[in-house]
Amino acid sequence: MSNKNSGGRGRSKNRSKASKGRGPAGKPRGKGRSGQRQKHNYKPIAAELMIHEAVPVKEVEYEAEKKFDDWDIHPRLKRAIEAAGWTYPTEIQEKAFEHIVALKDVMGIATTGTGKTGAFLIPIIDALLAEEQPFQTICLAPTRELALQIEQEFAMLTKKMKFSALSLIGGRNIKQDIKKLEWDYNLIVATPGRIKDLHGQGVVDLTKASVLILDEFDRMLDMGFQKDVTFLADQIGDRDQTLLFSATLDKTQQKLIDYFLKDPVKVQVSSGEASAEHINQTVQYVERDEKFGALIELLKNPEFKRTLVFAETKHRVKKIAKKLNQAGIAADEIHGNKSQNYRQKALAKFKQGKIKALCATDVAARGLDIDDITHVVNFEAPTDYDVYIHRVGRTGRAGRTGEAITFVEKE
Ligand code: AMP
Repeated sequence: MSNKNSGGRGRSKNRSKASKGRGPAGKPRGKGRSGQRQKHNYKPIAAELMIHEAVPVKEVEYEAEKKFDDWDIHPRLKRAIEAAGWTYPTEIQEKAFEHIVALKDVMGIATTGTGKTGAFLIPIIDALLAEEQPFQTICLAPTRELALQIEQEFAMLTKKMKFSALSLIGGRNIKQDIKKLEWDYNLIVATPGRIKDLHGQGVVDLTKASVLILDEFDRMLDMGFQKDVTFLADQIGDRDQTLLFSATLDKTQQKLIDYFLKDPVKVQVSSGEASAEHINQTVQYVERDEKFGALIELLKNPEFKRTLVFAETKHRVKKIAKKLNQAGIAADEIHGNKSQNYRQKALAKFKQGKIKALCATDVAARGLDIDDITHVVNFEAPTDYDVYIHRVGRTGRAGRTGEAITFVEKE
C-alpha cells in the first residue's frame, strides 16, 4: 500500500477543494463509540515501580530564537497570538513551523502541555490568511475533551477572522452535527468514531480536505482507533500534507506512520511530562474494603486541593464519586458513560475549584489541560507502566512538584 499523500507541491494545490457546497444527506446509521474498554484480567503493575522520591526538576527553559512578533507571519495572526498572551514560541512551535510552512509531512513527538496545538494551528492559520482559496484541515483526536480544546484554541487564534471550525464528537446530538455540516469549515476537529459515523451517513465529504492532522496518535492507537483512522485517512486520499503528533514513539507505530506520512520530518521536543522524576510517588497498602475510607481520609487533608482520582472501570469511578460526596467531599466523575456536556461541566467545576476531586477513567482523562492538580490518587494501580506515568504526569506540571499516591491492596 502506498500512502495517498501528494506532498511537495505548492500550497494552493487541491485547496480549492473546500469550495462552498453541502454534502448529500443520508439516513442515520450506527452508533458513536464510547471509546471505553473494560478490563477483565486485572493485573496491576508492581508496587516497587510506583515508589519514587521527587528529584527537583532542573528547569530547562527553552530559549526561543525569536519572539512571535519577529516571525514572518500575517500581522493579523500576530495580533491574535499577542492577544492570547503568547510572546515566545514553545520548542515544538519553533521547530515545527518552517517544515509545516514548507508543506512537509511532520511527525512531532510532543505531549499535551508543550504547545503542540499551537504548533500546527499557527502555520495552518497563516496559510489560510495567505491563501486566496480556502482549504480545509481535518484533525483527528482521541478524546472529546482534546477535540474541544483544539477547536477552542483555533477560535482564540482566529478571533476577528472569518474562519470557522467545527468539532464532531461523540456524546452530542448527531442530528445537530448533520445540520451544522450543511456549511463549510476551515477546520474540522473530530474523534474518529463520530466522524466515521457521519461519513457513513453520507453527510461529511472527506475528499474536500487538503491537510490531515493526527493528534495524540499513540493514544488513538491505544484506544483501538487504528482501523477507523486508517479508513478516514484513506478517504481523505490525495492531500497536501499530513501532520502526526504523538507523545511516544515506539516501533509498533512505525509501519502505520510510514503509511500515513510521506518523507516526514521528525521534530522531537523534550518534555517533563513523559517522565515522573519530579513527582513524589508513594504507595499505600490498604485492605480492599478499607479503600474508600482511606481515600476519604486523604482528601480531608487541606493540602489535597485539587485531586484527580483514577480507577480502572467506569463503574468504580462512579462509585468513588458517590462515596466521596456522601462523605461531604465535593467530587464529580468523568468517564465514557457521561455525556459530553456533563464531562465539560465537571471539568469546569474542577478547574474553578468548586469540587475537590475529579474521578476519572484513563480514557476520559487523556489530553486534559489542567495545570494545577495537586495530587493524583490511583484508587487502583493501572496494569501498564506507560499508563501509570501518564496518570501521575497530570500533577507536577508547569515546573511544580507533584504528589502521586497509589493504593495497593494487601495480599
Ligand atoms: P498544548 O500542549 O497545545 O495542549 O498547550 C498547552 C497550553 O500551553 C495551552 O493552555 C496553550 O494555550 C498554552 N500555550 C501554547 N503555546 C504557548 C506559547 N507560545 N506561550 C504561552 N502559552 C502557550
